[in-house]
Amino acid sequence: MGNQVAAISPELNPVSKKALILVDRDGTINQCPEGIYVTDINDFFEIPRAFEALVELRSIGHTAVITNQAKMSDSNGIIIPEMLGKFTSIAMYIENCVRMIDKLTQERLWFYFCPHPEWMCCGCRKPDPGLLYEAVGRTHWDINDDIWIIGDHYSDVLVASRSGLPAVRTILVQTGRGSDRDTVKFFQKNKGLRPTATVPSLWEASQYIKLHYVRSGK
Ligand SMILES: [Mg+2]
Ligand SMILES: [Zn+2]
Repeated sequence: MGNQVAAISPELNPVSKKALILVDRDGTINQCPEGIYVTDINDFFEIPRAFEALVELRSIGHTAVITNQAKMSDSNGIIIPEMLGKFTSIAMYIENCVRMIDKLTQERLWFYFCPHPEWMCCGCRKPDPGLLYEAVGRTHWDINDDIWIIGDHYSDVLVASRSGLPAVRTILVQTGRGSDRDTVKFFQKNKGLRPTATVPSLWEASQYIKLHYVRSGK
């Protein structure tokens, strides 16, 4: 199962939108205190306005969650069914909250996740671009059309440069680990790898993309 990317979505969404928007989960949608893995629904706390932001993003483009979840597998890299169940509960909770705000859409929220430990070098664990490729493939996305990645860690931003795709832009949010010393240092050292924008939270990220679209006339 080395290179296998896992995704939760019961059906394929028709894609008619102008952007593919991929959003990290921990530290971007929900609080993620350092050293804590959010695996249980009882530990899931929304970052203020994150669900609202997902509604906004879905009005702009085809929006999905991309997340590393190494705790989902055992030391041999095999998925633990109980952990998969817990992940699915959180995914359904996020989707239900988004749908409660946005009652008009029937669109499903997709979740692409890497369940592999780092040692497997699977290719889908961010900063590797496997989850991005999977989203592009499943939506038959034209790689010249806009793609956005939003996350709280430099590994989210690196997905763009590692992908080699021409139209990927990134937004770093300052929730989660987004304003950690590690993150700040990383971008000071690697000036060429900076995100397209840095904003306080997912809500501002949604507004940034909205503004950008209005300005570019799309
Ligand atoms: Mg994160
Ligand atoms: Zn993986």
